[in-house]
Amino acid sequence: MHILLVGAGLSGAVIGRKLAEAGHTCRIIDARDHIGGNCYTERDAESGVMVHVYGPHIFHTDDEEVWRYVNDFTQFMPYQNRVKSTTQGAVYSLPVNLLTINQFFDKTMNPAEAKDFIADQADTSITDPQTFEEQALRFVGRDLYEAFFKGYTEKQWGCSPTELPASILKRLPVRFNYDDNYFFHKFQGMPREGYTPMIEAILDHPNITVELSTLFTPDMAANADHIFWSGALDGYFDYRLGRLGYRTLDFERFTYDGDYQGCAVMNYGDRDVPFTRITEHKHFAPWENHEGSVCYREFSRSAEPEDIPYYPIRLVEEKALLEEYISLAEETPAVTFVGRLGTYRYLDMDVTIREALDTADMFLGTVEQGGMM
Ligand code: UDP
Repeated sequence: MHILLVGAGLSGAVIGRKLAEAGHTCRIIDARDHIGGNCYTERDAESGVMVHVYGPHIFHTDDEEVWRYVNDFTQFMPYQNRVKSTTQGAVYSLPVNLLTINQFFDKTMNPAEAKDFIADQADTSITDPQTFEEQALRFVGRDLYEAFFKGYTEKQWGCSPTELPASILKRLPVRFNYDDNYFFHKFQGMPREGYTPMIEAILDHPNITVELSTLFTPDMAANADHIFWSGALDGYFDYRLGRLGYRTLDFERFTYDGDYQGCAVMNYGDRDVPFTRITEHKHFAPWENHEGSVCYREFSRSAEPEDIPYYPIRLVEEKALLEEYISLAEETPAVTFVGRLGTYRYLDMDVTIREALDTADMFLGTVEQGGMM
């Protein structure tokens, strides 16, 4: 079969590879002049630092098959994400852990004492937290909420945490020990040479051709037996029902001679600091040595049509519109919508790969039974 895959990011590459291995011809197009989508990395020519051009990507998963899959294509180095937060004039450890709590409240509590202490801070009148703010007040109390979450979240999402779902905060743990590893996952790492060579290796198959700087045109569909679309879901339908909202990021890139902040990620909890965080990219590759440094100040704002979409907003309004687009997608069996943009969900890389592998398997199963076109 002739398969057209729109988007040469993780979804397109992983699906393309599986179908290519099964003997299908895969044409992968991408509007950008590089592969990898937002995972794209490249070395800064001057300092040699590996730069995560669209913001930091840290690989973490509990999915052993996915972990083996990525390790088959590139060498991963051990890496643990340890984030700091500057707020109210001091630097703290994230996610909120016993060090954060003791420093913030100027105490020397042990885990059990800290648990009781935080339970006293918590607003127990909230029994079934629905919003981000309710979730925070219920589980960490007002002081920690205002220092670490309120300002950051207002900047990140451009709205009040009272309008956001509790699920966003559920991504972040509160720990009553000194574990400051940002992720719980069993497997964590960073590709030694960045993500671009990994995705290049996935795409490196005789049945795959990749065309960059190439926009999708309807005539391409005529030559394809099936399409996998990892572009924006609403974009496929020419935004005919309206636009699904995204947050985009502006990166203010700067270089520094030496070590700018001493860690990879420094969040800024105060509302009057306009950026959400500063990332210093050489610290994402601690096995390398570079004198110079490349940093990004990260600003979040509502995406305009010409901006690169990052975070699906998924507020009530978007959810209703999403349902309508999902119905349209279901009425379009010649196209499978995949990935972060194609399904309008905020997906971590491991989930993206898992879904891509499963989608490809399902497609192959259906084709074998003579079904899918
Ligand atoms: N968050 C926060 N303060 C922080 C870090 C995160 O309030 O210092 C909130 C913010 O609303 C963010 C959410 O927690 O969107 C999830 O954080 P995560 O680190 O998972 O952010 P992501 O990977 O989505 O950028």
